Amino acid sequence: MKRGNLLAPHPLAFNADAVKVLELTAPSQFEVKERAEITPGFGEVSIAIKACGICGSDLHGMDGSTGRRIPPMVMGHEGSGIVSAIGEGVTEWAPGDRVTFDSTVWCGECAYCREGRENLCDARQVVGVSCAEFRRDGAFAEQLLVPQRILHRLPDNLSFEEAAFAEPVGVALHAVRRAGSKPGKRALVIGSGLIGLLVIQALKRVGVAVTAVDQDQERLALSRKLGAEAAFLPEELTEHDFDLAFEVVGITPTVNLAVRSVAKGGRLILVGNLSPEVSFPLQAVVTRELDVLGSCAIAGEYPEALQALAAGDIQVKPLISDRYSLAEGAAAFTAAGEKGALKIIVRPTENS
Ligand SMILES: [Zn+2]
Ligand SMILES: [Zn+2]
Repeated sequence: MKRGNLLAPHPLAFNADAVKVLELTAPSQFEVKERAEITPGFGEVSIAIKACGICGSDLHGMDGSTGRRIPPMVMGHEGSGIVSAIGEGVTEWAPGDRVTFDSTVWCGECAYCREGRENLCDARQVVGVSCAEFRRDGAFAEQLLVPQRILHRLPDNLSFEEAAFAEPVGVALHAVRRAGSKPGKRALVIGSGLIGLLVIQALKRVGVAVTAVDQDQERLALSRKLGAEAAFLPEELTEHDFDLAFEVVGITPTVNLAVRSVAKGGRLILVGNLSPEVSFPLQAVVTRELDVLGSCAIAGEYPEALQALAAGDIQVKPLISDRYSLAEGAAAFTAAGEKGALKIIVRPTENS
């Protein structure tokens, strides 16, 4: 875990008023660059980023395949830090506040935002995403600017590293909320990756009995440790009367397994979308009257996510595979792509 500092640039090589960012300069190419520090504008807050997690969407997107990480840009949407400066018109926040931020930059004015579905905002932008419609640099950087309305305050006892999980925990809580009033007494969770392991814990937290399915024995062991009552390889699963199935992979075989595994009248919550399209067992869904719901991002679950983390109801420390400085950013992404890695944390301002 200990690494030498040989690759870190000498501090004197940088200007005092500059901030370092980990720039994706070309597909799968990284460089630590220096940029002029930006003064926050009206309603904006500047955050000194302390921790930022590498997301699966960063890993899948950095080679250009998703069209959502078009270089040059700075990724990172799972961050936490300390407010370093505020712009005019900012009243609720002050330098020194410990914060995290919504990965969705929502407008607060469109019909979706007004009904509390800001994940569907008509003007939606995502922090650390660069696509045809917008480009917004993210939190693999010493400084991040965001509008004040998307900030959330950290509970005092919550570390920056754990707070960097507010985003994926929020994704899991949102999926569980989408399952809704359906009394999910027994749920199947397909996929024990990072989000799957958080969905398992979010379900357990509300008293739902969980069975986990994954292809990897180590992940099955971890899912049991974190709250699944049973855990199977896909071919071992024989039950098909679950009330709920959460699909957290997003490929044809796992979507089909989800459909086959719920009881008549059951409910599927589709979270994974590894494949943009899958073959779908239409007749089984229609004739067995299944509810099929998509679940995307977060719509108001941040306070609950922070509370669950602070209370220890959702455990994220066992999910941290390793930590890297910003200077080691390229190595951090290599590590995140290795088999068995769950969450890699980058710490942009760990020494300041
Ligand atoms: Zn993410
Ligand atoms: Zn909106």
